[in-house]
This record gives sequence, structure tokens and C-alpha cells, in this order.
Amino acid sequence: MTLPTAFFGHGSPLNTLAANRYSTAWSAYAATLPVPRAILAISAHWYVPGTRVGAAPRPPTIHDFNANFPPALFDFTYPARGDAELADRVAELLDPIEVERDATSWGLDHGAYCILAHLFPQAQIPVVELSIDRTKPASFHYDLASLLAPLRDEGVFIMSSGNVVHNLELADRTANREPYDWARRFDDVVLRLLAERDHAALVNYHRLGPDARLAVPTPDHYLPLLYTLGVQRSGEQVSTIVDGFDFRAGSMLSVSFAA
Ligand code: ZN
Repeated sequence: MTLPTAFFGHGSPLNTLAANRYSTAWSAYAATLPVPRAILAISAHWYVPGTRVGAAPRPPTIHDFNANFPPALFDFTYPARGDAELADRVAELLDPIEVERDATSWGLDHGAYCILAHLFPQAQIPVVELSIDRTKPASFHYDLASLLAPLRDEGVFIMSSGNVVHNLELADRTANREPYDWARRFDDVVLRLLAERDHAALVNYHRLGPDARLAVPTPDHYLPLLYTLGVQRSGEQVSTIVDGFDFRAGSMLSVSFAA
């Protein structure tokens, strides 16, 4: 059996603790999934030089946000086990790309557990996080991901977490206002390209014009989407788990691919 794969728009770290339409949709989605043996998570927030894979037996919960967030969020832990076998298998599949086993510098960041807290609240499934090599171009990430596709037949749920539109500088937290026009346009274009399976256009997103430059001012939150595309199989359809915008400049679009 091939497990579905999904990209999640995670938004604010507060979504970890929230009960809102995003978290409700994420948990409803998990209820449709066959129970995975393990999870491979690619998060916008492990954006470092080099490809690293989490190798700690108990990956620590990293509170990677500023001190203005509430104490309850700093108290939150996601106690999933790691999976050394999966970390080894990732390195094997990615060979000859150098993969560093990381057991000390990282763990699970909020890009991963903000979603996992709702997908699998009991944290009963082992989780391995994979870094995004910030020194590499978009095409590298798409190509790298394609090497991981066999994991989907080995009981591994591959999930990536970022935001299709993510412009913190233009974020407007004053009220629940409509998204910027450019944000909605870019989100619509991405959804159309996903439906058309136009991976080349999505990898070369910087050619999608001025809306793309506003939506993706830095690559970190967009690149996770390319991991989900890289492991997509021919004949698989995209479906929307949830959509919407926060703070006018953040897309909460989450999508799944399954046959
Ligand atoms: Zn983020």
C-alpha cells in the first residue's frame, strides 16, 4: 500500500494549541489515513546548510519562536520517539548526497509539531525530521525528494510543512481582513499548477512574476512544497485539506496527494 503524502501550511506557532478550522481539518485528514509505521517530516524551520536527518531516540521539542508567545506553548512537548532505522534508510536512499545524522543540535520544531499535535495527538508514531539545505536551489530539493518516494510504500507518511504564501514583513495582525490581492492570486496559481501537475513551473516559482516575489520573499516556507511534489506519483490527484489566509500575507493552504 502507498501512503498518501501531504504539504501543510502551518502558520502561527499558536496553531499547535489551537482549536480552529485549520486544526480541525488536519485532524479530520489524519482520520482518513492508514496508520503509518513512521513519519518523515520536512519543516521550513530546519533550514540549515547541509542535508541532516534527525537521529535522536527521543527528539526534543524545540520551542523555536520568540518570548512573546504564551507560556503554555513553551510548556508544550511532542513526545514521539525517533526512528534510527528510518534515518538510516533516508541516508541510503539519498546516497551519494551527504546526509548528516543529527542527534544533538535539533529535534522537532514547531513547523513539524504544530501539525503533528493535531494529526497524531498521542504522539504514538515515530517521527524523523529532515532538514532543508539552505545552500541549494529549488530544483535540488525537488530532485532529492524524488529519491525518497519509495518510503511511501514502506509505511512512511511523508509530510512537509511551510506556507505557500509567507511574507512576515507585510503580515497585518490588526484584524481578520481579506488577504492581499497578490497573495490570493499566487495561492490560486499554485493550486492550478498542482492540479495540472506542472511541477516544472512550481520548481521555477521565481519565474511566476511579481506576485511570486511578494509571496515567497525567502525560499524557506515555500521549499517544503517541493518535497511533496517530488514524492508524488503519476496518476495521483491533489486534494485540498484546508485553505485560507492568516494576517493577509500567510496562506494556510494544505494539500494531499493520493491515488
Ligand atoms: Zn513557519
